[in-house]
Formats: sequence, C-alpha cells, structure tokens
Amino acid sequence: MKKYKIVIVGAGPSGYFTAQAFQKVEKEDISFSIDLIERLPTPWGLVRSGVAPDHQKIKTVSKVFEKIAKEPGFRLFANIELGKDVALRDLRDQYDVVVLATGAANGRRICVPGEDLANSFSAADFVPWYNAHPDYVNTEVDLTCDTAVVIGAGNVAMDVARILAIDPTELDPTDIAEHALVKLKQSNIRTVIICGRRGPEHAAFTAPELRDLPKLENTDVYIDEKQIKEATERANIGGEIEKDLRNNLEAMKLIAEHSKKGVDRKLEIKFLAAPIEIKGDKKVEEVVFMVNKVEGGKVIPTEEAFTIKAGLVITAIGYDAVEYPGITIENGRINNIAGHIEHNVYTTGWAKRGPTGVIGTNKSDSSDVVDLIVENLSEPKVSEGITALLKSEHEVISQLAWEKINASEVISGEIAGKPRVKEVDWKRLISLGRS
Ligand code: NAP
Repeated sequence: MKKYKIVIVGAGPSGYFTAQAFQKVEKEDISFSIDLIERLPTPWGLVRSGVAPDHQKIKTVSKVFEKIAKEPGFRLFANIELGKDVALRDLRDQYDVVVLATGAANGRRICVPGEDLANSFSAADFVPWYNAHPDYVNTEVDLTCDTAVVIGAGNVAMDVARILAIDPTELDPTDIAEHALVKLKQSNIRTVIICGRRGPEHAAFTAPELRDLPKLENTDVYIDEKQIKEATERANIGGEIEKDLRNNLEAMKLIAEHSKKGVDRKLEIKFLAAPIEIKGDKKVEEVVFMVNKVEGGKVIPTEEAFTIKAGLVITAIGYDAVEYPGITIENGRINNIAGHIEHNVYTTGWAKRGPTGVIGTNKSDSSDVVDLIVENLSEPKVSEGITALLKSEHEVISQLAWEKINASEVISGEIAGKPRVKEVDWKRLISLGRS
C-alpha cells in the first residue's frame, strides 16, 4: 500500500472538492492523507464569505464539505497562512503533492480617475464586509446617500446590488454580518443602478439569478425594454441563439415587462454604459459614463456621455489570484498548465482558471487536476508533514476546533432565528475553538 501525503492550501469549495477527488480515487494499493490548510480561523471560503446572505440554499453545499472532513485521513489546519506561517518550498519538501486552491481574492481595478475616492469599493472588499469576513469588519461603508452605482454585469454585481436594494428586514433571517445589517437598516439608499459596459447580449449574469429579480417583494427592478429588444435582434443575426443567451435575454425581457409594485426601492440595470470617471470632493459624488453602441458585432464608444449622481460605487468586475513567493500570476491566474505549476505543486479552482463558474464548477475542475496528479505520482516521501513546519506555539484551528466554532455560531443563530450568527473577531473565533 502506498500512502501519499497531500497538502491543499485554501479551504474553499475547490479545496474541499480536491480533497473529495483524492478520497474518491483511493484504492486498495493507494491511499492519501490530506491536510487542508486555511489562512482564516474558519473554513468554507466563498461559501462563508462570498455567497450572498439571501442565497442560503447555495450554502447547503457546506454539508458536503463537512462530510469530506469526516473521512479518514483528512485533517483541517486553519489559521495558517501560506507565505507567513509556512513557506511554499517547505510544503513542497514535506509533502508528496501541494495543491494551491487559494482562489482569487484581489478585486480587479477599474483604472478610471476617482477610483480611490472614499465610498468607492471593489466588490472584493464590500462582499466580505457584509459576509462577516474578519479582515473586513472595519471597512468604512457609508450608506447615507440615496443612490448607489454598481459597475459590472455579472452575478457578483447582481448580488451586491440586491443586498443594497432590498428591504433589510428580508435579511433578518440570514447569516449576514450583524454590523452590515445594522448599517443597511439605517441606509438611505433607495436606488441602485447596475451598469454594464456592453450590451444585454454580452452580460455575464446567469438566467436563474435574473429570474429571481422580479420576485423581490419590496424592490422594483427596471431594465430598458428597447435595449433588450435590440440586443435580441442583434443576437438573432447569427442564426439560432445559443441556449444560455436565449434564457438570459428572455429573463431580462420578463424583468423589463413585469408590472412594477410602485415601491420606493429601485434596482435598475443599464447596459452600454462604460464608466470613465468617478467624481467627488474626497468622497464619491457622481459617476460619468460613456455611452457605447454595438455596431457590426463590436462594442464601440459613441460621443455621448451621461452622469449618475451617486454617493456609493462598487466595482464588481472580476478578481485576480493572490501572488505568493514561488508562484507567478498571469492574467489573474496562477501560471499553470492544466493545473500543474511545477514539480509536485498544482493548482485548482479560481486560482487555476480565473474567477469563472459556479461553486459546482470546481468539482469537475478539481477532479481533473487530481487525475493528472495521480498519473504523475512516484514513490511516497518519508517526511513529517505540517508538524515539522509550524512553530510549537502556533495555534491551529483543527476540525474539532472548527466544529466548536460552528456549533457556537449555529446555537447563537437558533436563538436569533437565523442559520447562524457569524463571529467576526479573529481572536474570539480562536477562543471559541478552544472552548
Ligand atoms: P464576471 O461574471 O466575469 O462579470 C464581470 C463583469 O465585469 C462583466 O460584465 C464584465 O464586462 C465587467 N467588467 C470587466 N472589466 C470591466 C471594466 N473595466 N469596466 C466595466 N465593466 C467591466 O465576474 P463576477 O461577477 O465577479 O463573477 C465571478 C464568477 O462567480 C462568475 O462565474 C459568476 O457567475 C460566479 N458567481 C455566481 C453566483 C451565483 O451563482 N449566484 C453569484 C456570484 C458569482 P465584460 O463582459 O464587458 O468584460
């Protein structure tokens, strides 16, 4: 029997699905001990700090993660930071295989003047703020203005816009951060405008998310019907419209047509609006857009511009992978070939392919990478693994410690009528794990 030591860095969906893929390929003559390392004192990655709190159903995938964690040979080592507490080269020496499932945590910059004004945020900062990520508790979000602009036409833009536009009491029965819920309840924002730089036919939204918008109980959602009609005509030029696009356009048409409730909370989706400047005296006051048009299948700028008066701007235009000593990033992804970086180091998930796909996409992706790893395995190493690398005083959050944190949050949630109340303080999280 050959037993290989695997270390996976990053306890988000792609990390867990990688562990699961290793568990699935175990045979009589080959087995794996799997150490899952995580920087935060809590696992689950974007399922905890990315998925929108009003999308609790998506978070049920955490049950799968906990099942993976119960399998023999699996160990969680949270509260360990790659590059600080352990070096990649040491992991490489101590383990047969290192898999970097470190995601893509850096928000892409929009690179327009005014981007760094106060109350202009990347979704990479704003989303973890409302999702109780311990590093973002002190993000200074000001919701006293009446209008917010969200730049980007993808599902993250839609999540952010929805959280800002819905009646915050709808978030009471969710696991949203308490500090964010308090702020949202005091918010003066009543109009949220999502701006996509290209046409409706180019939007990165997905149809199920679009179809949910007319169902919002306390928010009217607007899309210009003419823009959808023109986009559909353009899409039709190339023959039959591909299924996902057809579904998207139909869902947008439904939004445009559905009768409005006449409530004061509004969410609007504008297309062909490319941001060129964010203006304000120290703080965001307005956003200037260039009007684009689609001509001959190409999106080109017109001479026309318009301004939206808004006191908050969130850019949700994609993410880049974080750089660590020993790896290089290109086009926002770790340099890799089909998940292989070099020697015994691999990558998976958003770090490997960029920030695309839904949580489930990481399952097949990780499974493909594990197949490649297994093909490349040689003789197992004789080494100690993580224990040889950590300082004796380093406080690790093990699976058991995490289960204590989890139980404590869930119990607090039961009392408050929520799935959980997330602890946001790093030190308190660690002490909950000790209790
Ligand atoms: P995304 O789907 O790639 O969308 C990014 C958007 O930003 C695109 O509309 C893009 O427009 C726009 N953009 C990029 N650069 C821009 C610029 N300089 N100026 C203006 N707009 C710009 O990324 P995402 O929304 O971050 O989502 C990441 C992944 O997570 C996606 O696969 C998404 O489906 C998934 N996700 C899923 C859910 C869900 O299932 N509920 C929720 C959240 C996220 P162009 O197309 O013109 O470049």
